[in-house]
Amino acid sequence: MIRIPASRAPGIDRLFVSVGTDYHRFDRLIWWLDEWMSVDRNVGHVIVQRGTSATSELAHSVEYLQRTQLIEEFQRASVVVCHGGPATIMECRKNGLVPIVVPREERFDEHVNDHQVDFCERLAAHGDIQLARTKDEFFRLLDFAVERGASEVAVDDGHTEESVMKFEELMVELFGSRARRSLNGVADKAHETEELPKIPVVFIGSVPRSGSTIMSDLLNEHPHMVNIGELVHIWQRGVVDNNLCGCGQPFSDCKFWYKVGEIAFGGWNQISGERMRTLQRRVDRTRHIPVLLTSKNLPFVGPSITQYGAVVTRILRAVLEVSEKPIIVDTSKHISTALLLRQLDDVDLRVVHIVRDPRGVANSWSKVIDRPEVQGGAEMDRLHPGRIGLRWLWFNWAFSNMERLGVPATTIRYEDFVKKPVEALDQIFQFVGLESTSEAMFGDEPLMLGEGHSVSGNPRRLEKTAVELAVDEKWKTDLDPKMASLVSAVTRPMLGRYRYSKEG
Ligand SMILES: [Zn+2]
Repeated sequence: MIRIPASRAPGIDRLFVSVGTDYHRFDRLIWWLDEWMSVDRNVGHVIVQRGTSATSELAHSVEYLQRTQLIEEFQRASVVVCHGGPATIMECRKNGLVPIVVPREERFDEHVNDHQVDFCERLAAHGDIQLARTKDEFFRLLDFAVERGASEVAVDDGHTEESVMKFEELMVELFGSRARRSLNGVADKAHETEELPKIPVVFIGSVPRSGSTIMSDLLNEHPHMVNIGELVHIWQRGVVDNNLCGCGQPFSDCKFWYKVGEIAFGGWNQISGERMRTLQRRVDRTRHIPVLLTSKNLPFVGPSITQYGAVVTRILRAVLEVSEKPIIVDTSKHISTALLLRQLDDVDLRVVHIVRDPRGVANSWSKVIDRPEVQGGAEMDRLHPGRIGLRWLWFNWAFSNMERLGVPATTIRYEDFVKKPVEALDQIFQFVGLESTSEAMFGDEPLMLGEGHSVSGNPRRLEKTAVELAVDEKWKTDLDPKMASLVSAVTRPMLGRYRYSKEG
C-alpha cells in the first residue's frame, strides 16, 4: 500500500505513540516524548497508548486500544513511535509506515530480556524502522520528521510487501516457529514477574541540624552500609544544580553517581531533572502527608506515587549495584520522604529517629553557615527559633509514630550519640541486623572518614579532618534567652519524653 501525503507543509499532522501491552512500565518513552513536546514542535494531534506506563503530560493518553481502534490509529497516523514489539512494527509496515522505534530494554526493567533490541537492530539495518536507542537519537528522528513533513518520512518506499515477507523470515530466524503465532495477535503475553529482593533502606529522620550528617557519615564506614546523603535533593541539587557530592566532585563528575545514572536510566541525561523534580513535588511534600498516610491506590495521586516510586526504586537498586553494599542510608530527614518510601513495595524501610535539644537546634538554625558545595556560593537557610520549635514538635511527634505505621524505628538522642558513639552506633547496627564495627572505629588513632558520596547535606560532610564528637551546647551562651524560653514553651509537650529540661 502506498500512502499519498495529505500535505507537503512541514510538520506532523497526527503522531501515534504505542508502548504495547507488556506489563512492564515503559515510562522512559513517555518522558522522552513529553520532553520533546515541551517546546512548540508543529505537531497536530498526539495520541499515546500507554499501557501500564506513565500518563503523558502533554499528549492524549489511553491505556489500551481495541484491535480495530489500534489499526485505525495506524491508518490515520502520519508518524508512529513505538516500542520494539514485532506485532506493532508489523502493523506499521503493513500500513506503509517506517516507525520510529525505541526498544524496551531489560536493564531498565522494561522487558524480561533484550530481544527487542536485537530484533530492532536487525530491522534498522534493513531500513524497516528508524531506531532510537538514546534520547538524542529520538529527538533527532522526530525533528527530522517535522522538518521534512511527516508524511514524507512515513510514506512507503514501495517495498512494503517485500519487507513484510523479510520481516516474517527474520521473526522466525530470531524467535523460532512461535514467532508466526505471536504475529497474529497484538498482545505479547505477560511473563511471570521475577521477584527481586527488597532494598533495605535506613532512613535518618530528624529535624535538620540534629547531628544527622556526622551520624550517616559514620554509618557509611560500616562495610555493609552506604550513605547516599539526602536522596530528596537529588534532582534539584544533584542533577539540575550540579552541586558538589560528598566526595568533593560536582555531581556530574562523580564516578559513583555517574555509574548509578548509567545503570538506572542509561545516563542522567536520558531523563530530565526538572521533570523529575515536578513529579517529585506532586508526591513528596509536607502537604501530601495525609495522602501518603492512606492507600497509594487513590485516584489522581496514586499514579504519581507509583510513577515516582518506580524512579526512586531504580536509583536505589543502582546504588546497591555500584556500592556493592547491601544496606542504603538515606539522610533525607523529611517526614514526607519517609512516608513515600514506606509506600514502595520494593523498599524494606527502617527509621533511625534522632532527637536533639530543640534549643540547640534553634541556635544552629540562627547561625550563618556557608554552603561550599554550591558552585558560586550560598548560605544555609535560617529560620526563626519559634518556627524551629514548632517543626521540632511536629517532626518528633511524626517520627515517634513510625512504628504504629508498621515501620520499624529506633530513637537516639544526639547528646547520647556524641557522648557515647560506640553505644549509639551499636544500637543502629543491631537494629538493622549487622555486626558491630564501632569499637574498632573509635580506637586510639583519630578517626578519619573514608570516601563517601552523599548527594546533598550539611557542608560539614565535605571537611576532611579527623572526626571529633563533642556535645554542642553553645545555645546556652549564644541563643538569646528570650528565644530560648520561646523554644522551651513551644516544645514543652514533648521535652520530658526525651529527657530535656523544661527550663531554658
Ligand atoms: Zn561522589
